[in-house]
Amino acid sequence: EGAVTVGELAKLIKREPSEIIKKLLFLGIMATINQEIDTDAIELVASDFGVEVVVKEPVDEEALDMLIEEADPAKLQERPPIVTIMGHVDHGKTTLLDAIRETNVTAQEAGGITQHIGAYQVEVSGKKITFLDTPGHEAFTTMRARGAQVTDITVLVVAADDGVMPQTVEAINHAKAANVPIIVAVNKMDKPDANPDRVRQELSEYGLISEEWGGDTIFVPLSAKQRTGLDQLLEMILLVAEMAELKADPTARPRGTVIEAELDKGRGPVATVLVQNGTMRVGDIVVAGTTFGRVRAMVNDKGRRVKEAGPSYPVEILGLNDVPSAGDLFVVYDDERKARSLAEKRIAKHRQEQLGVQSRVTLEDLYKQI
Ligand code: GDP
Ligand code: MG
Repeated sequence: EGAVTVGELAKLIKREPSEIIKKLLFLGIMATINQEIDTDAIELVASDFGVEVVVKEPVDEEALDMLIEEADPAKLQERPPIVTIMGHVDHGKTTLLDAIRETNVTAQEAGGITQHIGAYQVEVSGKKITFLDTPGHEAFTTMRARGAQVTDITVLVVAADDGVMPQTVEAINHAKAANVPIIVAVNKMDKPDANPDRVRQELSEYGLISEEWGGDTIFVPLSAKQRTGLDQLLEMILLVAEMAELKADPTARPRGTVIEAELDKGRGPVATVLVQNGTMRVGDIVVAGTTFGRVRAMVNDKGRRVKEAGPSYPVEILGLNDVPSAGDLFVVYDDERKARSLAEKRIAKHRQEQLGVQSRVTLEDLYKQI
């Protein structure tokens, strides 16, 4: 991060490499033209030449303005929780996600093709829950590395016959770092050697003390395979969501995060996005990362075409000029020309970043604070 060679820096600040090397020597750093120098040294050298290298981020100003738009508390409405499932390999994440999806399709939907779009919604007692279908670890590591926060609640799956394993601990750390509440799903309760108390004991060492033991972590024993305990899990998710008072303004400027994206032979770039604020509509002009375009069509997780998608709704969008990356933010624009110009500026910035000069404040950093 922030690594730039002497030669690159020279080019960037329009000086001779020899001048840079001299300055570095002055700072006690022996360097050759192809040597990488760290951010601090870059800043010192640049400021010696009267150049501000720490970019104050002129690039995304317009987008920032929009993201910082004051939320109007009067317009905030409850939104569905966005849930990520994490846990050690083979503890039953995929089985659980499939079981929840399949046992919660309404009769009307059952005829339709449930297509995989990286996220899906279920309805429980009249309330919706959005599950991210992407591997939880990926959702956390890739997307959070990009500054996107797309999880409200983590379901930590721990196999009752296996207990806490390395990826269990990793998942706990991710969730804690992101300040996301954890619900423990003690899976594989159908197995003869299931030992839920051992799971409780082991997890207590990581600060997850079950309610039965006087703590405040919810543990739900279940069997994803036999599909028992799923209703309790869903109810607990709704309970935790209620306590978190998750809200969004459906009338705000639509924005959210790209969950996954690919180039489809017939349909062109297809991106699954999670709307996090506002309501996205067909015809909207969006910028997603370094891509942009007018939304030509939207498809929901049931494979149905939809005209709009509100907060916490996952949809596939068609119409982008290129394939964005998972974790990219998207924002809806009023003006196609501005959208194009922002996307182009971002491409330029991206190139610059690849050169190694990283600006201190990125759009993502600011987004995190909202
Ligand atoms: P993942 O790696 O966490 O996604 O785990 P999978 O969902 O692929 O499950 C790993 C294995 O555990 C598979 O063979 C599943 O059939 C099995 N499995 C998952 N849930 C249960 C359960 O509740 N009971 C039993 N007995 N096996 C399960
Ligand atoms: Mg799996």
